[in-house]
Amino acid sequence: MIFRSCRRCGLPHPVEARWASRPSQCLRCWKLSKGYDLTKADQAMEAVHGYYTDKIKTIEARLDAVERSGSVDRARVDQLIKLCHPDRHRNTPASNDATAWLLRMRETLN
Ligand SMILES: [Zn+2]
Repeated sequence: MIFRSCRRCGLPHPVEARWASRPSQCLRCWKLSKGYDLTKADQAMEAVHGYYTDKIKTIEARLDAVERSGSVDRARVDQLIKLCHPDRHRNTPASNDATAWLLRMRETLN
């Protein structure tokens, strides 16, 4: 069993691995698409569904705001490495530590 995003609502739902390559929908969306009545359990799940949909939208909006506010890119890290390089700071432990940290950070950037 793996998790795929529902093609209708986008929330993750379990799918058997053999069906993983096909577009799929969650049980709630499938029932709604077929005109089936939702049980109380379905309605409770729908409430949870709505709750998490709102949460995801809030988190995505916050991530967008963070990205727009100026993320750290490779050029900025290179600039910081030059500014705090141990050669410029009498080889102090702080400059070595900061440079090592920036070098590790740079490896994680594209
Ligand atoms: Zn769905």
